[in-house]
Amino acid sequence: MARFYLEKGKVTAFIAHLQSQKTVYAPHRKGRNAFAFAPVERPEDVVLDYPRTVSSIKKYFLPAREELLSFNLVENTCAQPVVAPLDAVFLGVHSYDAQAVLKLDHNFVTGNPERNYLTRRQGALIVGVGFTPDRFHFSGSVGIPAGDTTGCDLFLHPCEGGYALEALTPGGEGLLAGFPLPAHAAGLPAAAPFHQHIYVPQAKLKDVLAHGYDSEVWEEEAEKCTSCGTCNLVCPTCYCFDVEDGVDITVTRGSRERRWDGCLLRSFTEVAGGEVFREEPADRQRHRVFRKFKYISDETGEPWCVGCGRCTASCTAGISIVSIVNRLVNDYDAVKA
Ligand code: SF4
Ligand code: SF4
Repeated sequence: MARFYLEKGKVTAFIAHLQSQKTVYAPHRKGRNAFAFAPVERPEDVVLDYPRTVSSIKKYFLPAREELLSFNLVENTCAQPVVAPLDAVFLGVHSYDAQAVLKLDHNFVTGNPERNYLTRRQGALIVGVGFTPDRFHFSGSVGIPAGDTTGCDLFLHPCEGGYALEALTPGGEGLLAGFPLPAHAAGLPAAAPFHQHIYVPQAKLKDVLAHGYDSEVWEEEAEKCTSCGTCNLVCPTCYCFDVEDGVDITVTRGSRERRWDGCLLRSFTEVAGGEVFREEPADRQRHRVFRKFKYISDETGEPWCVGCGRCTASCTAGISIVSIVNRLVNDYDAVKA
């Protein structure tokens, strides 16, 4: 695929060129230290060199809250909101978040395809950007180097004075039409190293987790956990939701709403009659980690964690998914030695 040179001084013009074709979403600074994807209004507000955003671009395909239908018993009507393809460009997406979208695609197309998510995904183009791993990133351990272009239509590799811009799909090439750029003849810079690692491949991890099902680590970590659910809410591959009907005071009108939910929350496993089938925080901790490295992974052969580090960076209790997994690896190796 073709590779071009985008000098730093032309980045805002490049963003304006993207805006002339589609709605563009990109990282913006929020407060002092946070970053969030938002619709681009002024190209100069876009931040392409950032550690991680609070949420991934998942929020645009699977909104945190959405109305699924509304009903009116007086008029005897029931209506579903119209869901349309986003037809947008997501600019400045890190490699792990691009791959998280592919994992969500798998989840929402498998079994009973999820119409709203899949409709919104149509026409969405992703322009990835390389990043410098901080102390929380570990995507290299789950097969996603910082310069991995999987799932992207264009990719910006940071290099001296700007970016080596790779065109990876016909959709990406189309975005470049009418914006002439010189070829980038030099090689790509080496991907930046990671400071966090999980020390076994997924092929072994499935045995490690099976062995660690009754590990003491779940209780030890659960003692610190406040069951706030933040780790679920920030995770780009978590996709669980709750659906609730609400009615107005006349009990004749109402709506059905879908909201993000999380398996670390006690209410997540509360069912009719008040039974809670994962009452203990330790069981909930184990479930989250097994969802990322065993249950779906045993079917797909891939970790379902993309190593973004958000859950650890956001956890006020200092609970690290990398530390948990490496503890299980050490325990497994000690027994098998
Ligand atoms: S963010 Fe930390 S404290 Fe909150 S539920 Fe997750 S592990 Fe527990
Ligand atoms: S489990 Fe944690 S590190 Fe893995 S994808 Fe989710 S938030 Fe990122």
